[in-house]
Amino acid sequence: MPGTLTPAPLSEGEGIYAGRFAPSPSGPLHFGSLIAAVGSCLDARTHGGRWLVRMEDVDEPRCSQAHADEILRVLEACGFEWDGEVVHQSRRKELYQAALDRLLQNGHAYPCACTRREIADSSLNGIEGPVYPGTCRAGLAGRAPRAWRVRVGSEPVCFEDRLRGRHCQNLEADIGDFVIRRADGFFAYQLAVVVDDHEQGITHVVRGADLLASTPRQIHLQRLLGHATPAYLHLPVAVNEHGQKLSKQTLAAPLEANQAGPALVAALRFLGQRPPPDLQAASIAEIWQWATANWALPADGLLPSSVSPMPSM
Ligand code: GLU
Repeated sequence: MPGTLTPAPLSEGEGIYAGRFAPSPSGPLHFGSLIAAVGSCLDARTHGGRWLVRMEDVDEPRCSQAHADEILRVLEACGFEWDGEVVHQSRRKELYQAALDRLLQNGHAYPCACTRREIADSSLNGIEGPVYPGTCRAGLAGRAPRAWRVRVGSEPVCFEDRLRGRHCQNLEADIGDFVIRRADGFFAYQLAVVVDDHEQGITHVVRGADLLASTPRQIHLQRLLGHATPAYLHLPVAVNEHGQKLSKQTLAAPLEANQAGPALVAALRFLGQRPPPDLQAASIAEIWQWATANWALPADGLLPSSVSPMPSM
């Protein structure tokens, strides 16, 4: 079909593909996360790949087991079948600590004593707020460590997104030395996701474009840790009628198990597929059959970047 993205060649050796869906159980599953689940699953399955589910509950104060259970229940109702056991980040702290220790030993990471306020007073602004001015790079000057940061450089970090093409970021100007272990003792998402993608042998990451700005940080950490960089594909993000990303913060409606069929079909439409009108009333198995047989991502530009998918969601 013209204007469609044919499955990208496998980058990590013929026949190897491992993908994942990595929800944060800080709230129930909503339509925005369903899109990442559907996109990552179909990309994996149509490449003959494995597809894993990982609970990203590294930010423990904001996550709960009840949300994790509910997310899995809704995924099951939607007919998702993942390979192996679901991994929980809250149970993998030794792995994250080992990675932090290695970065410290190699001089890539350092403890930081600065408070939020001290950093906010810095005059430099990046794409996600103040850029850390590097105060503790040379040592703590007798102050107690609060958080741990990784050093970044001024060389742009670039990658080829399978849908969006080349994407580069200057970590020094845009982000600064970033936190990998937080002042409250929890590991940062950026470190956990890199360690887990490596440990789980993930070769292909398919996720929402809201994470596009995080990818160069993750590639930077992969390089420092000597890990392979997976192929990346960032899907469009669903927004509400105010143009805000569907998320827990914007109070996106939870997906109910009894909406599974219509929600799956809406997710397919959102992802540029053209399901026949009667698919909505078909069984979950039939929807997956159709989706797997017909999956092809439109090239960038043809996919909507903002859609309010179902008025009731
Ligand atoms: N846990 C992240 C989220 O729910 C996704 C992380 C990822 O896919 O790398 O937004």
